[in-house]
Amino acid sequence: MRKIAHTNHRTLSQRVYNDALKTAMTDRVMLPDRLLTQRSHLHDASPALGALYDSYSWAAHSLKARAWLQAAFVFNFLLMSFDYLVSPSLLMATLVIRGFMISSILLGLHMLWGRQRACWIQGATLLAVSATIMIGTGALGALGGVSMFERYITGALFTVATAILFFPIEFRWTVIAVVAAILLHAGMLIIGPVPDPLLALSTSCFYSGVIIAFASTRKATLRSQWNSFKSKIRELRDQEALASLNAELQVFANLDPLTGIQNRRSTQEDIARIWDDPAYAKPAIAFLMLDIDNFKQLNDTFGHAAGDDCIKGVANKISLALRDGDIVSRYGGEEFLVVLTGTTASDAFAVAERIRKFVESFRLRTLGDVPASRVTISIGLALWQGDDTPEMLIKRADEALYDAKHRGKNQTVVAAPVQDINACAGQGHRQKAHYVA
Ligand code: GH3
Ligand code: MG
Ligand code: MG
Repeated sequence: MRKIAHTNHRTLSQRVYNDALKTAMTDRVMLPDRLLTQRSHLHDASPALGALYDSYSWAAHSLKARAWLQAAFVFNFLLMSFDYLVSPSLLMATLVIRGFMISSILLGLHMLWGRQRACWIQGATLLAVSATIMIGTGALGALGGVSMFERYITGALFTVATAILFFPIEFRWTVIAVVAAILLHAGMLIIGPVPDPLLALSTSCFYSGVIIAFASTRKATLRSQWNSFKSKIRELRDQEALASLNAELQVFANLDPLTGIQNRRSTQEDIARIWDDPAYAKPAIAFLMLDIDNFKQLNDTFGHAAGDDCIKGVANKISLALRDGDIVSRYGGEEFLVVLTGTTASDAFAVAERIRKFVESFRLRTLGDVPASRVTISIGLALWQGDDTPEMLIKRADEALYDAKHRGKNQTVVAAPVQDINACAGQGHRQKAHYVA
């Protein structure tokens, strides 16, 4: 049962941490590099980063603090029989002080650490532990007589010292607890059964040294936890940067560098995806193969750079003529492939004609006194039929384009259905549905 509770608790903190981290990642201002260097301190962190660190470390901290409180609770109970053995007259006092006061405070604090608390509450816990154990044990020692008193408060101080070493709280709270424990120890020596200020001073100095050594160990632990947190953030941030770089590279790998539209390879991948996806009705798919007319001549007249500008301008006009979701790609030198989905034969023809007219409106600007040149394209349109594979559809669109060129260019030719081709095969020619704009 306890195991399950711990697991849930850890999952919860992990979730808190992940949420906080997501916020941190989107708000990059919160994670400037200077904060993530090995030399930066927790107190340099912005409140948001500090809160993120608290969420990150809470699960482990709570586990430690609760383990100490649990051990102290059991130990405190065992000491009741020790008190009784040392002095049976202490029975009532130990029942009240250890059996009720100390144990209920330890139990309460154990419950308090069951869920994430503000830093000051976590810090005040150690102060409460320190005061409870010092005062409770000191009182028992005083009741037990001179011989027991000093041993008891020394024992209490060492119990507090282990808490100081163990408790994962802000360092200033560790210091407050150290000072409180040493002052209580010295104060009790001064007002105890045998008031001895000199002894109080000398032993306090000695124990202070020991406890301060414990506290500095604690500080080193805190520092290494903070550093490991920063490494984790850096690692996640680098992963995120790498992922977005990869995503950018992926986008570039799919685009044609000259025109910015899709390249042939990524279009082939898209077509394969469409073919496998039952959401796309195949009878509503149309392929358009487009080719710029007399492009060689344009290249020869105005130069290769003007040719490139022409390809870019035509790609832009084609894109403008299409809906979102239609695919347009540069398929070869000055050849383009358009894939329409969710269309009908007449709509696909209308789209082809719209593209053709958009391109006609394009004017290639050339250097010198030569007037801006008009550009036209020819289009072969093939509609899905039967068991067409993408390759078959492309082939038929290509053949229709070839026909469009032969019929005088600057026009759209629709590839005839395959059965018509078969039917016409015996007549020695291939028939195409032919629409000239
Ligand atoms: P048609 O009307 O029959 O299509 O005649 P065409 O002159 O356009 O002939 P074709 O389509 O075969 O011409 C393709 C030319 O396109 C050949 C090549 O020099 C040129 N070309 C291919 N890629 C590029 C490119 O990236 N930039 C430039 N400027 N020219 C290219
Ligand atoms: Mg051409
Ligand atoms: Mg060509």
